[in-house]
This record gives sequence, structure tokens and C-alpha cells, in this order.
Amino acid sequence: MDWEDFRQRGKDAADWAADYHASLRDRPVRAQTRPGDILAQLPASAPETAEPVGDILSDLEHKIMPGMTHWQHPRFFAYFPANAAPVSVLAESYVSAIAAQCMLWQTSPAATELETRTCDWMRQALGLPEGFAGVIQDSASSATLAAVLTMRERALDWAGNRDGLSDHPRLRVYASAEVHTSIDRAIWISGIGEANLVRIPTTGPSRAMDASALQAAITRDRAAGYLPAGIIACIGGTGVGGTDDMTSLMDVAEAEGLYTHVDAAWAGVAMICPEYQHIWHGVERADSIVLNPHKWLGAQFDCTTHFLRDPSTLVKTLAIQPEYLKTHGTTGIINYSEWSVPLGRRFRALKLWFLLRAHGLEGLRSMIRNHVTWAEKLATRLANTPDFEVVTKPMLSLFSFRYAPKGVEDLDDLTLRLVNAINNDGRIYITQTRVDGTLVIRFQAGAFTCEEKDIDTAFDVITEIAPTLV
Ligand SMILES: *Cc1c(COP(=O)(O)O)cnc(C)c1O
Repeated sequence: MDWEDFRQRGKDAADWAADYHASLRDRPVRAQTRPGDILAQLPASAPETAEPVGDILSDLEHKIMPGMTHWQHPRFFAYFPANAAPVSVLAESYVSAIAAQCMLWQTSPAATELETRTCDWMRQALGLPEGFAGVIQDSASSATLAAVLTMRERALDWAGNRDGLSDHPRLRVYASAEVHTSIDRAIWISGIGEANLVRIPTTGPSRAMDASALQAAITRDRAAGYLPAGIIACIGGTGVGGTDDMTSLMDVAEAEGLYTHVDAAWAGVAMICPEYQHIWHGVERADSIVLNPHKWLGAQFDCTTHFLRDPSTLVKTLAIQPEYLKTHGTTGIINYSEWSVPLGRRFRALKLWFLLRAHGLEGLRSMIRNHVTWAEKLATRLANTPDFEVVTKPMLSLFSFRYAPKGVEDLDDLTLRLVNAINNDGRIYITQTRVDGTLVIRFQAGAFTCEEKDIDTAFDVITEIAPTLV
């Protein structure tokens, strides 16, 4: 296939995309296939000679699509939203046609400068003060890794990159048990080690780190010869939306001189609504903040915005400048590859620019507000339905519940059977998590095309299926 053939194929793909999205409501949300079903239909080796593109597309339709779970389905209530607004999909089509590597300013000045501008649009919309500089990373996991490496190097006065960690005191990082597993992995990869990720107990319904326990842990560690390096907070943990109290946490961090990273991967984009900004009040004192426009906001995956109060500590940690990457004769430029672990960078700013312009902040705010309102309504309806318990109250659009009729001994087993029965039914898709040892069902409303009637369908499906299982 060449670019001349692409003319028609590309138009067909646009038609296919519109038809696919129009058909989503009629498809089961979660793939209804068994392990190995798809693999068994695929030849064991690659073809030696070219195949017609028509055959490949036919296999996409008949062999691949039946095995897809539809993340853009309006009744996708599992995990977290991974919205791809049509305008951001359009932007990605242009990005993949241009296919530029945007690692240095000079490898695509427009990509760099658009990234600077769109990140600053986001900063303002989120209510972060001037001075925070943003960069687009491929994922929150990468941003968190970059932040953990920065807290490590800052604590070691940048000797870790040079000498390794063996001649230095053991570093310590503090977080609650509500944080995402990407934090554990960043701690492993950075060489700090899981044993030095100190879990601070949480208090209250928002499951925030207990600031006095945090202070006590740091004091104890210093006395024992450890080197405290940083604190990782979460605003909207993935499980049930655990949220740290920024003010009390920053008080400790500042008194102890520790680097702070805030993981607000899914919930953070809701802060474009001023009425939710109280949730992370104090965040302006953090060193590093990550949130994902590729989740709720509608930017096609991947698009993570990472805000730094002082990017120079991050750049000092991650920048390497071999001769072939030097940009002689240019000053006052940013090479964003020095802000992230991977060198190569896609042109991610374009879809964020398209999205923010085509929907406007008000358009995006009203989507988020609807989801929050609908999730709250559903939680109230379930709480008022006999035998249902809301276990964790809505944190924005996420809550958890379970079905707990009297006389059932093994409620965890019932919860799992209910999750499976609902997902096999196919009209909605939900997932489970554990809260204080108990299995619960998570519900999050966040799909770009979700309407209130889809939430009503969720209520009907849940309350219809649950009684059939006891
Ligand atoms: C989804 C999520 C992550 C991981 O995000 P990626 O961009 O997939 O790496 C991290 N933290 C929280 C709280 C999340 O919800």
C-alpha cells in the first residue's frame, strides 16, 4: 500500500470509525471471548509475500473486533474512563500522518512550542499558579518514575546517577496504601526498593495519610540513619478514590525538606471545574503533579500532563547531552526529551490543542459535572435499595458498593459472582476492588458519550441480576 492507495483507505477508515461508534450501544461492553479464541484464528508465522489490504481489513472485522472490549462504550463503568473524543482521534490521524519525532526543539519546533502553550492552558484551567511548567509524558507511570528519580537524586545531591546507590544511606519514600501500583514500580525501578516505601496509615472517609503518623515515620527514620527523600500523595486513588489532605502533608514536607509528587491521574482533570478545586487545596505547594487528559478529559491515549514547580531538578536528573543531541546556536529553547525517561516523543500536544479548542473548557466541565451528578444519584438510589450497601461514598464520579442480603455467609464470593454475571450480560461493564479486606464493586461514570439513561440502565441491570444469585 502506498500513499495514493491511502486516499481511499483513509476515507473508508473514517466511515468505519463513525459506523463503529454509532453501533457501540448495541454491542456487549466487555469482549465475550474465552482465552485463546483469537490466537487460534491467527497464522503461526508472518506471511512471506504481500497480502491484499482488503484481506487484512476483513480479518480486522471478523477475527479481531469480536475480541475487543469497547472502552468508548457509553456504558463502560469499569476501571477508569479512557476517553477519545472524536476531535482528538482526528488530531491523532494527522499526527500519525506527519509521524515526527518530537524529542528536541529543532526536530519539530512547532510540537515543542505547542506543548508549552497547551500545558500552560491546562495549568491555568486547573487553577495552578504561574511558575508551574508542564510537559506531556506518555503515561502517569512514566511521570511518576521521573518524579521518583528526581526525589532520589535531589536527596543524594545528584550522586546516585553517577555512583549508584550502594555507598549511600538507604532512601525512604512515604505514601499511603491508596496509591496506584505505578508508585510501587517506580520505587522498584529507581533502586530505592519496596522495603523503603513506607506506608503511612490513613484516616477518615477520604482515606488521607495521617499527617502525624507521617511526621513520626520521618523522625523515626532519620534517627535510624535512613535518608528520607520524598512523599507521594494521591488525589483520587484508583481503587476507591482515596485522597490525601494536601495542606497537612505539605506542612510536613516543607518542614522536612522533602520532594513531593502528587498522583491525580484520573481525578485531576476534574479540577478544571473551580468548585472541585478545594479537593486538592494546597497542591500549589507540591513539586510535581501528574494528571491524565487521556482518561476523563477525552484526549486519545496517550497524553499525560506533568507539572513541575522547578523543572531544573527534573532536567538535572534526566538530561543527557551526547554530541548528536546538542542543538548548537540555539538558546532559549526547550528540549522536552530532557524532561522524561524515553528519548523519542510523539507529537502529543496536537490532540490536546484540538480537544481544548473544539470543546472549550466549558464543554469539558459540563461533561465532568454531569458524570459526578449522575454517579452521586446512582449511589443514592443503590443505598436506598434493600440489600445494597454503598461502601465508599462518591469521590467525584467513583464509588463502591456491594450486594449484601441477610443470610449470605460468603459475601466476597457473592460480589465476585455478581461482577461476573453483570459483565457476562454485556449491557454494562464494571470491576471489583478490595476495601479494608472486603471485596466491593467499583462504579465510575466517565465515558464521553455516557448519558443519564445509561446510568439508569446500570441501575436496572445491577438490581435485576443481583437477586438471581442468592
Ligand atoms: C490510571 C492511573 C495511573 C496510571 O496511569 P497510566 O497513565 O496508565 O500510567 C496512576 N495513578 C492513578 C491514580 C490512576 O488512576
